[in-house]
Amino acid sequence: MNILVVNCGSSTLKFQLIDSETEQVKASGNCERIGLDGRIKYNAGSQKTVLETSLPDHAVAISRVFDLLTDAKDGVINSLDEIHAIGHRIVHGGEKFSSSVVITEDIIKEIETCNSLAPLHNPANILGIRACQRAMPKIKHVAVFDTAFHQTMPAKAYLYALPKEYYSKYGVRRYGFHGTSHSFVSKRLAELAGLDYGNSKLIICHIGSGASISAVKNGKSIDTSMGMTPLEGLVMGTRSGDIDPAIIEFICQKENISVNEMSVILNKNSGLLGLSGVSNDFRDLQEAAENGNKDAVNSYDVFVYRIIKYIGAYYMALGGADAIAFTAGIGENSSEVRKSIMDGLAAIGVEIDEEANKKRGEEVLLSTPSSKIPVWSVPTNEELAIARETARLI
Ligand code: ADP
Repeated sequence: MNILVVNCGSSTLKFQLIDSETEQVKASGNCERIGLDGRIKYNAGSQKTVLETSLPDHAVAISRVFDLLTDAKDGVINSLDEIHAIGHRIVHGGEKFSSSVVITEDIIKEIETCNSLAPLHNPANILGIRACQRAMPKIKHVAVFDTAFHQTMPAKAYLYALPKEYYSKYGVRRYGFHGTSHSFVSKRLAELAGLDYGNSKLIICHIGSGASISAVKNGKSIDTSMGMTPLEGLVMGTRSGDIDPAIIEFICQKENISVNEMSVILNKNSGLLGLSGVSNDFRDLQEAAENGNKDAVNSYDVFVYRIIKYIGAYYMALGGADAIAFTAGIGENSSEVRKSIMDGLAAIGVEIDEEANKKRGEEVLLSTPSSKIPVWSVPTNEELAIARETARLI
């Protein structure tokens, strides 16, 4: 079966066409600047194409994607009949969705009720669903939620110590994100470490531009660092992660700015970018740190220290750990970050294998045989996880 995986942002539409039997990616790409002018990056085999083309809305973008996939020269299928289902990545499923679902009109209405929790993401996700449904009304569409995997967290992990009516009236609680990745990587980690997934204690560190850690006990998420929104927890490319909430009022008063402006600062101008003043891209930051830039060194240290603290906390939450995984752009590729973190885990018996840690972007055991906890690099693949979920549901 060919499954099209679609991930819509407000001005982007990422896609992959995946053969669910071989799990091979037949074609992939990204529509950018939707609603502005429009550009499509399209990859099929070794063929890479960049098209400057008008993309006034998501409906036009998806129809252009279909044109490319069926193109006589660059296409990978003969007709749209060869697409058997579409899997949609949905950012926020609130408390309504603890697993993936086949999309119906009622499901779309339920997803819409979660819009206030993810006002930038969910409406764009729904635009994508509508555009794909109009173009391909006969096939099944499946929603896969970023929040679903974490719905197993107990109340003690998801409740904030706020007046309780904010939870009952507005759903203010921890939801957690990157769920598709935490689920995919934790399952794979159990396999690699020779553990029974249903009887294991795992810590998953998803460290990319966005970053989160989860504690997975017996195959279920019991805690995770992102909160009601993806702003909480670790230091990220442009997001602050945890701060004292009183800072918000303090800065608003000092700088005479609104809460909305402060929210933009916390989401877009903070994290590694804000702290270093160099870049939100980790490679730029490392280069600056190597060249002696003090602010870059400090932001690296704050970033790594926060991760070590969370791993320590989840080690206690789980009552120990059978294995730890690093994943996503930085976790899969940065030997330096992995070393800094693993050195910081000596107290719980982690020992790094320096030679193995040189490897990048692949499944590799990073710890020595005598390490008390095996630590693995496990590349994540959210698109493949969505394709698997879609194939399973149809
Ligand atoms: P997202 O999906 O959240 O956009 P990614 O998982 O793609 O993020 O991770 C992007 C981050 O990974 C960037 O900060 C980038 O600099 C970093 N990264 C990618 N490759 C390397 C590498 N070889 N060394 C260090 N950092 C890397």
